[in-house]
Amino acid sequence: MDQVNLYNPKCETIPRDELRQVQFERLQSTLNRVYRNVAFYKAAFDGHRVNLERITDLSAMRELPFTTKEDLQRSYPYDMFAVPLRDIVRIHTTSGTTGKGASPHDAALGGPKPIVVGYTQNDLRNWRECAARLLTAAGVTQHDVVQIALHYSLFAEGFGFHQGAERVGASVIPASLATGVAKQIVVMRDFKTTVLISTPSHALNIAVSLDEAQVSLERLSLRLGLFSGERWSDTLRRQLEERLRIDSIDTYGPTEVLGPGVAGECHLRHGLHINEDQFIVEVVDPKTLAPVAEGHEGELVVTTIMKEGFPLIRYRTGDITRLNPEPCPCGRTFLRMAPVCGRTDDLVLVRGVGFFPAQIEGILAECSGISPYFQIILDQEGGVDTIQIRVEIADDIQSLDKVKAIETLRLEAAKRIQAVLDIEAKVILLEPGSLRRLAGGAERVVDRRPG
Ligand SMILES: [Zn+2]
Repeated sequence: MDQVNLYNPKCETIPRDELRQVQFERLQSTLNRVYRNVAFYKAAFDGHRVNLERITDLSAMRELPFTTKEDLQRSYPYDMFAVPLRDIVRIHTTSGTTGKGASPHDAALGGPKPIVVGYTQNDLRNWRECAARLLTAAGVTQHDVVQIALHYSLFAEGFGFHQGAERVGASVIPASLATGVAKQIVVMRDFKTTVLISTPSHALNIAVSLDEAQVSLERLSLRLGLFSGERWSDTLRRQLEERLRIDSIDTYGPTEVLGPGVAGECHLRHGLHINEDQFIVEVVDPKTLAPVAEGHEGELVVTTIMKEGFPLIRYRTGDITRLNPEPCPCGRTFLRMAPVCGRTDDLVLVRGVGFFPAQIEGILAECSGISPYFQIILDQEGGVDTIQIRVEIADDIQSLDKVKAIETLRLEAAKRIQAVLDIEAKVILLEPGSLRRLAGGAERVVDRRPG
């Protein structure tokens, strides 16, 4: 057993039967607290005739009602807090994966509301611990220079990794997302950054800009990338590893659940260990809400058992994944979840056929000559759904007859999509850079269909 990369060995290798006992005790105390202190949970438990005294083991959790993102949005701003505001020492909001770009400003205008999350001193301490475990599992040490290119704002992402990386003892550069790509690269080169923490798409922008600026990788000290905040395909992962010459680590942590630190891959990079001493996870069928068979794909449901400020009971994350109960050779006993492969709310339905945008990304990545930037446009013609896929060609199409080469590429991409997904899509190839340069990045899916 390799215990080199354990931040808290006793906790991370706890035997599973002991873990279940710890989980159950913490669950009971959480349930009692939310029932007493949060009107929403009191009403939900009473409405479902939940008798907390009947919850005598973990399997009885199934009697508890689910909590949804809409429930949290309706509680804006503070109704889900389980402690008085004077005990809250930090407030973050979600960026709103469904309520697109939701902000307090939108809420003031009656638009979609963000979810407001409060943290007590203990919550911040546990968060730091979770993030430190994740960074240690990834191989980050006090010898690393960690550049964090994530939001440091209302959103929790940057702060979560920042606190964890300081706890591990690394030298932390809070580059934030506000620093443009060109400056990120200068910082990365001059400060000898060894670990980049960003979204996969921002890392891709950095990689592409390195090529354009002809900065050779030899002048960088980069060895590792930790990624969060977006779903990414295996193909994009391989591309980032090749283009930046790094190992890549996938991490998971929605702000409403905690922020970065809920789960992360160990150095073996075969699934993300969930910090189960702080979270109880289930996977359910998103339609029937019944538990899926062990190892099957479904929606991740999380119950927090350590959080004081903003506890969640059976929270439907909307993220599609599956759990792997096999023991991991790294020695951690915590379950692993597969990288999130989609969301219950981004399943695109076209003429009755459902697919995830990540599947399109995977197919396009197999076509050489196409860049990773694409957009899906849904529309209707004569009452029939149409799907258009706009994708940038790569910079390096070298052909005597470029027009013909592009047409061949276009037809090939459409044919592959038809073959794999059984969808007739119109593929439109764009000049390199045209989607990437849209301010803030282009929206992945644009649905123009009426209704
Ligand atoms: Zn492991």
